[in-house]
Amino acid sequence: MSDSNRRDFLAGTALLAATTAMFGNRTAEAGDPSFMNNVPDPALAGKELPTFKFALEKSMGKVIGKSSGKEATVEQLPISKGIAGVSMRLEPGAMRELHWHATAAEWAFVLEGRVRTTVIDPQGFAETNDFAPGDVWLFPRGHGHMLECLGNEPAHFILIFDNGYFSEFGTFSISDWIGHTPKALLAKNFGVPESAFEGFPKDEVYFARGAVPPEKPSTPLQGWKLPPTTHKYEMLEQPPHKIFKGGREWRVDSSRFPISTTITGVILDLEPGALRELHWHPNADEWQYVIEGNVSVTMFGSHGRYRTETMEKGDVGYIPQGYGHSIENIGNKPSRILIGFNSGVYEAIDLSQWFAGNPLDVLATNFSKPASLFEKFPKEDVFIAPQVGP
Ligand code: MN
Ligand code: MN
Repeated sequence: MSDSNRRDFLAGTALLAATTAMFGNRTAEAGDPSFMNNVPDPALAGKELPTFKFALEKSMGKVIGKSSGKEATVEQLPISKGIAGVSMRLEPGAMRELHWHATAAEWAFVLEGRVRTTVIDPQGFAETNDFAPGDVWLFPRGHGHMLECLGNEPAHFILIFDNGYFSEFGTFSISDWIGHTPKALLAKNFGVPESAFEGFPKDEVYFARGAVPPEKPSTPLQGWKLPPTTHKYEMLEQPPHKIFKGGREWRVDSSRFPISTTITGVILDLEPGALRELHWHPNADEWQYVIEGNVSVTMFGSHGRYRTETMEKGDVGYIPQGYGHSIENIGNKPSRILIGFNSGVYEAIDLSQWFAGNPLDVLATNFSKPASLFEKFPKEDVFIAPQVGP
């Protein structure tokens, strides 16, 4: 085997392994063969495309004191089978109690305030991290964690899960488990008297409330035993991944944030009138949360099916894997959108790039137009078009 053949062979093997892992994951977590993309998803097989927008921040959600969790799952947004999201607010002294997600990894972006997390992995490594606005965390599927508000200001963050069904019976809380286990069993488990469990909560606490945590994290019972790979990434501390005339993009995938093998996150800023051009993602669904501004999102679903949704601050959008779409700032101030993908590898094909990848005669034949027309088209990827056009 020549060197280059060998490289291709190795790359092919890695790709096959990655594909197998992804298929295995997705079918298992959703229990839905449509995720294999061989069988049409009934939710997407109608004459018209279903809505792909949900007004997340206008929903009620779960409220305890001044803490709240509002969620967008298949329950609220039926199209969103591949990704769910939560907008969570924690008041000072509040903690989203120790829990794990049996069916999804958790990715987060902090909007306001500060958050401290602890997470345990199967090797017994535990990490404590403090987060500020612009920071990201990732907890792999099934790893135990907690989130607490740090300091005297409330915290607000957006959570993204790589499974639209994650909520239903997928979240396991420590108080719920201990509250439903006999005291004798707990006493044996921990080697302490049964009386140690007197007065423990009987049901799931969800948001626990206590003192504001110390500024410097306290040492875990086992001492510091840090994992080799961190769960924290300071996304907006980095320069944007790319800057355009009409906007800019930060992107964090597994190449920059190695633990994030199943989720990629993006912050997309668009100037008024700017357009994230028509494109699709061959390998992932897309989940959108409008942080700021007013945008128009279009979706193309084949067979003449085309739908537009107008979204404002606090709204959520969802584009299934492989569906064409665009995002345009239709307001008079800059817009910022948080985007999550259920793959640790970012892939997109932009329409301008596709045009640029074909010769004039192909384009001429395709559209029954003179070849000279296409000489005026972009010779490279546009990605973000400013208001006046590329
Ligand atoms: Mn969680
Ligand atoms: Mn996209």
